[in-house]
Amino acid sequence: MTGQATQDGAGVRLTRLLTPDLQRRLDPFLMLDAFGSDRPGDYIGGFPDHPHRGFETVTLMMEGRMRHRDSAGNEGLLVPGSVQWMTAGRGVIHSEMPEQEDGRMEGFQLWLNLPARDKMRDPWYRDIAAPEMPVWQGEGVRARVIAGQCHGVDGAVQREGTQPTYLDLQFDAGARFELPLPPSHNAFVVVHRGTATVGETSVPAGRMAILGTRPEADGVAVQAGANGARVLVIAGQPLREPIAQYGPFVMNTRDELIQAVEDFQAGRLA
Ligand code: FE
Repeated sequence: MTGQATQDGAGVRLTRLLTPDLQRRLDPFLMLDAFGSDRPGDYIGGFPDHPHRGFETVTLMMEGRMRHRDSAGNEGLLVPGSVQWMTAGRGVIHSEMPEQEDGRMEGFQLWLNLPARDKMRDPWYRDIAAPEMPVWQGEGVRARVIAGQCHGVDGAVQREGTQPTYLDLQFDAGARFELPLPPSHNAFVVVHRGTATVGETSVPAGRMAILGTRPEADGVAVQAGANGARVLVIAGQPLREPIAQYGPFVMNTRDELIQAVEDFQAGRLA
């Protein structure tokens, strides 16, 4: 899959890798955007104040600096290699603004759904600096374990309902990585740099591969090409609950969306 060019925030150019038509197939993941540009005009507007309700956002910075501020009083600076995990719960209003006037800005933002019972929970926020990130080191492969587990290494974040696995993998040339995953989990692989073979399929940089869900499927296998690779592996337990989305609000019913818009307009979302 190639993704879809789009814009969000104040004119930031994005490639939407996980598009709305894949929300069912990749439940509990709602969206994955890749951003990457050397041209300030593509990112300088940033994402001024905007609301979220009902899900979590996970931002992985590869290059550049982005400042986060939110209505819960959290503030953080995303720098290369750092990850920001934000649980919007019942409501957060935040801004994500570049803290640079030139140079490269590059990273990913993943949207992870919350189970119905947690959609109105209190907001939560954590910045994970690169040196704090748990790491699993294999033969020619290094995994930064953002969420879930990797061969006995616990990731920075664990979630009971959606059981997310989120790995940022750096491969030497030709190196191979395998990880068992529960057969019920939906999983996909994004090749960020280089080329990789996922199962039997060769995947170039900038593309994603969705793993099959045969009951006998036993996990993910990735082999890097001759120039190595940087690869994201993302998996989670589907919620199998109704998804109702209106822009930055993701709930279970239309009535809950109307409530979210009313709460935002009345100034009581966050
Ligand atoms: Fe946001």
